[in-house]
Amino acid sequence: MKFIGGASTSSVICPLCGLRSSHSASKLRLKQTLLCPGCKALFVSTR
Ligand SMILES: [Zn+2]
Repeated sequence: MKFIGGASTSSVICPLCGLRSSHSASKLRLKQTLLCPGCKALFVSTR
């Protein structure tokens, strides 16, 4: 688990290309749109 700037991050798998990337936990909790660094797709984690 990595911590960037004191904010906890969580890894999410892109539904399009399957790339795992880290996003801030608060973004996930608020269901904000995430940008995949691999294919640049925008998606929302449904976890
Ligand atoms: Zn992707």
